[in-house]
Amino acid sequence: MLRLGITGGIGSGKTLVCSIFQQLGVPVYNADTRAKWLINNHTELKTKLIKQFGEATFKDGLYNTVHISSIVFGNPTQLALLNAIIHPAVFEDWKQFCELHQTAPLVIKEAAIMLETDSKYTVDKIALVYAPLAIRMQRVMQRDQISEADLLKKINAQMAEEEKLKLADYVIVNDGEQSLVEQVLKLHQQLTH
Ligand code: ATP
Repeated sequence: MLRLGITGGIGSGKTLVCSIFQQLGVPVYNADTRAKWLINNHTELKTKLIKQFGEATFKDGLYNTVHISSIVFGNPTQLALLNAIIHPAVFEDWKQFCELHQTAPLVIKEAAIMLETDSKYTVDKIALVYAPLAIRMQRVMQRDQISEADLLKKINAQMAEEEKLKLADYVIVNDGEQSLVEQVLKLHQQLTH
């Protein structure tokens, strides 16, 4: 079994690319969605978060992102503490997902942040979904209620795409010119035959 990581900046088209792989029968694990689920449902993880960040970490039983953001935003030490609690739980969950799909020739882990963290060591190969900045911004602003200034803040907080291009094993270009389906079919063929 080959574990492929799919990553890319905000609005690059990761989810769209993964949905094409899913159509081809490839099991897809969305790390960000699973992390959110685990935070709200994994008892041991919840206990650790409360111990580190206080009772206000959960409000009416739900993860209080306002409280956590107020602690970790702009504070790398606190952010590292948060990640040190959440990442191992997600890695364990991903391991279980791979075991569940052990007969599949290919499984995918989708994560916005992968090349920047130890998440890159939990996969065998990494494909970067790449789209020019202007196109990404246009797509996200159409999809989400977000101002250009706030979006730029998010984008600038992420690793530069040029850096990611150097680190990725494969690049899927989502510029609206080159066919996404063709690129995914080609990569799927390459990785499963
Ligand atoms: P995020 O990190 O913000 O979750 P993402 O990388 O998963 O983003 P998608 O959600 O797949 O990106 O795509 C962002 C938006 O752009 C979506 O609304 C999607 O439908 C649209 N989009 C992506 N690729 C294309 C394309 N080739 N043509 C038209 N629209 C596209």
